[in-house]
Amino acid sequence: MYDAIVIGARCAGASTAMLLGRLGHKVLLVDKTAVGTDIPHGHFIHRQGPQRLAKWGVLDDVVATGCPLVTDITMSLGGVPLYGKNLRVDGIPFGIAPRRSALDKVLVDHAVAAGVELHDQFLVEDFLRDGDRITGIRGRDLVSGERVERLAQIVIGADGRNSRLAQAVNAPTYEAVPSVSCYYFSYWSGVPMEELQLHVGADFVIFAFPTNDNLLALFVAWPIERFAEVRRDIETAFMSAIDRVPTLAEQVRAGERVEKFYGTADLPNFFRKPYGPGWVLVGDAGHHKDPFMALGIADALRDAELVAQAVHEGLVGKRPFAEALAEFEQKRNETSLPLYQENLARATFTPPPPEQRQIRQALVDNGNQADTNAFYKAILGLAPPETFFNPENIGRIMQQVAQQPAAVPL
Ligand SMILES: Cc1cc2nc3c(=O)[nH]c(=O)nc-3n(C[C@H](O)[C@H](O)[C@H](O)COP(=O)(O)OP(=O)(O)OC[C@H]3O[C@@H](n4cnc5c(N)ncnc54)[C@H](O)[C@@H]3O)c2cc1C
Repeated sequence: MYDAIVIGARCAGASTAMLLGRLGHKVLLVDKTAVGTDIPHGHFIHRQGPQRLAKWGVLDDVVATGCPLVTDITMSLGGVPLYGKNLRVDGIPFGIAPRRSALDKVLVDHAVAAGVELHDQFLVEDFLRDGDRITGIRGRDLVSGERVERLAQIVIGADGRNSRLAQAVNAPTYEAVPSVSCYYFSYWSGVPMEELQLHVGADFVIFAFPTNDNLLALFVAWPIERFAEVRRDIETAFMSAIDRVPTLAEQVRAGERVEKFYGTADLPNFFRKPYGPGWVLVGDAGHHKDPFMALGIADALRDAELVAQAVHEGLVGKRPFAEALAEFEQKRNETSLPLYQENLARATFTPPPPEQRQIRQALVDNGNQADTNAFYKAILGLAPPETFFNPENIGRIMQQVAQQPAAVPL
C-alpha cells in the first residue's frame, strides 16, 4: 500500500512525487513512456518557473543538461520590436527552455533521490475502486507485459490533458473553450540566439528561443481555422510565416533544420474539478490552455507544490483531504483564471486594447530601458502589475514621449 501513486512522470507528476517523497511519504511514480524521452510539447519556462526550480534545488541540474538561461526578450507586434534586457528576479534569469527529455529526467532523478519508487514504461489501464472512491491502479508493464495492481491512499493524475483518471472519475470541466489555434515547431542548428523572440502578426505568431544542444526552437501558431491548409504543406506554411520577419528569416535560412516538424491542433482550454474521493489531478490533467503565453509548465510546477502540500496534510491527518484539496482548487483558480482569459484573448489574435498599444508605443519611442524592463516584469508576472501600471508611472512615460522633439523625416 502506497501513500500516493502518481500517474505521469513529467513536469507536474515528477515534481509532485519529488515533493511528497521529500515530505517522507511512500510514493509510486509511473509513466507509460521511458524516462529521458521527449514529448512533443513546447518548453519555454518563465513566470516563477525558474525561481521554483531554483528553490527546489533543481535548476542547476537543468542548466547542467546544456540548456542556457534566458535574460532577454524581443516582443514584436505588427513588426515593431520592444527589447527587454537582463530580466532577472533575485538574480535568477526570467526564462529557460530545456527539452522535455532533459527537464523531466532531472525532476524524476530528484524524485527517486527523495525515495520515490519509479516504474516507467508502465501503462495505467484502469482504476481500483471501493464504491465511488479510487483506491489504486491496474496496469501493464510495457516491456514484460506483466499485469499489476497497486493500492494507495490517494491516486494523483498528472497524466496530461487527455487524462485517463479525469475520464474515469468524470471530472467536471468548467470555463471550457475548444481549441482556438494550431501549432507546428521544430529545431535548427547554426542559428545563434540567446533571447526569447516573439513576433505577433495579425494571423500568426512565432516563438524562437535557445534550447539544449545549441539548438534554436522555432514555434509557429495560426488560428485553428487555418489548420487544414497549414497541415497540407507544413514546411511552406511554416517558412512563409518566418519570412514575414526578414531579420529572423535571414538567420534561420542560414541554419539547418535538424528534426521533423511536430504539430497539434488538440489544444482545448478548460479547468477540471481537480479532486474527489481518493483522487487528485495536477498539471494539464486539471487545467489546460492554449500555449500562447507559455503558462503550462510554470503552472504545473506551482500546482505540484500546492497539491503536494494538500495531499501531505491529508495523509498526516492534519485535515480532511477534501478540505485541503478544495483550498488547492481555489488557489489554482484564483491565480490562473485572469491569465487564462488573457491567454485566450491573445490566442484568438484579439488586438490589445488601444491604451495598451499606446503605452507600448510610448516605450518604443522613449527608448528608456529601465521603463521597458519594468513593463516586461509587470506583464511577465515577475513583479506586481501595479508597479508599472499605475496612473503616475503611465502619466510620466506618456509625458516624456509628448515632450520629445518630433522625428525629422530623412
Ligand atoms: C505545442 C505546444 C507548445 C507548448 N509550449 C509551451 C511552452 O513554451 N511553455 C510552457 O510552459 N508550456 C507549453 N506547453 C504546455 C506544456 O507542454 C504542458 O502544460 C505540460 O507538458 C504539462 O505537463 P504535465 O506534466 O501536466 O503533462 P504532460 O507533459 O502531458 O505529461 C503527462 C505524462 O503522463 C503520461 N501518461 C498519460 N497517460 C498515461 C497512462 N494511462 N499511464 C501511464 N502514463 C500516462 C504520459 O506518457 C506523459 O509522460 C505547450 C504545449 C504544446 C502542446
